[in-house]
Amino acid sequence: MKRIGVLTSGGDSPGMNAAIRAVVRKAIYHEVEVYGIFYGYQGLITGDFHKMELGSVGDIIHRGGTKLYTARCEEFKTPEGQKKGIKQLEKFGIEGLVVIGGDGSYRGAQKLTEHGFPTIGVPGTIDNDIPGTDFTIGFDTALNTVIEAIDKIRDTATSHERTYVIEVMGREAGDLALWSGLADGAETIVIPEAGDDMNQIVSRLKRGQERGKKHSIIIVAEGAGSGFEFGRRLQEETNMETRVTVLGHIQRGGSPTGSDRVLASRLGAYAVDLLLQGEAGVTVGIQRNELVFHDINEILTEPHSVDLNMYKLSQELSI
Ligand code: ADP
Repeated sequence: MKRIGVLTSGGDSPGMNAAIRAVVRKAIYHEVEVYGIFYGYQGLITGDFHKMELGSVGDIIHRGGTKLYTARCEEFKTPEGQKKGIKQLEKFGIEGLVVIGGDGSYRGAQKLTEHGFPTIGVPGTIDNDIPGTDFTIGFDTALNTVIEAIDKIRDTATSHERTYVIEVMGREAGDLALWSGLADGAETIVIPEAGDDMNQIVSRLKRGQERGKKHSIIIVAEGAGSGFEFGRRLQEETNMETRVTVLGHIQRGGSPTGSDRVLASRLGAYAVDLLLQGEAGVTVGIQRNELVFHDINEILTEPHSVDLNMYKLSQELSI
């Protein structure tokens, strides 16, 4: 393999830039040329290809977002769109592709491999919802952003003696809610995987109220329902003054943490090594601090799971 491509797709996540840098530098280290494809699969179809040099990825390791830009592209979901993309790759003499993104992006990578184009997926999403890796690139940064926000809300919660409901991102996954809730000593964490029952949550909060608790922090994963709806029901049923905060897109931005930079560097470089070794249709990940790879078809059929022991622990610690 003498020339490869790299793109970022779907939702951006902090650390994507560090992953791009690792792909570019590791390829050049192996004397392989690299093209950056702008705007994800959209740019793949339109031929928005840019030759990357060592300096193209200078000064980005600490920046959030993605230097290659990202997009969502409906056309790429069709076989015609996918074939247009492969034509562009062939036109540029590109023999392998690294796709950095979430599970939607992985489906695109799966299709490219089915059409015979070697593609490797790197997990870039704040949601931590990709099987086959303990952590995705961006999760740790988003977790720390959420923690910082909750710490601030806690100051107000304590001063005003109110209940605060905070809705955090994560799509269908509860990881961001669970980890931030545990890290912040939240009274209650509501995640889709636990199938929480509203009556139980209300009675827990009432118990807290009875033993003199003056304020509560409740973290709701977006996949478990709307924070506003949750807050309204809580106020109705407990009579506690309740405020709702939806953290929103601040969770996707910011300078990546040390952990995310290291993870992105390791996974990006590993993806290049695997491509050059002839692997295709696989995704890279980290499990028990070891670099691993898995068949993309398996990853896309495996359901995401959270560590329910951690959920249980959060309840034990917030009695
Ligand atoms: P993420 O990668 O963050 O999960 P999306 O789900 O929006 O983000 O997916 C990003 C892009 O991946 C989509 O806009 C589309 O171009 C491509 N994609 C998603 N699903 C498929 C699919 N089934 N087949 C081909 N491409 C897909």
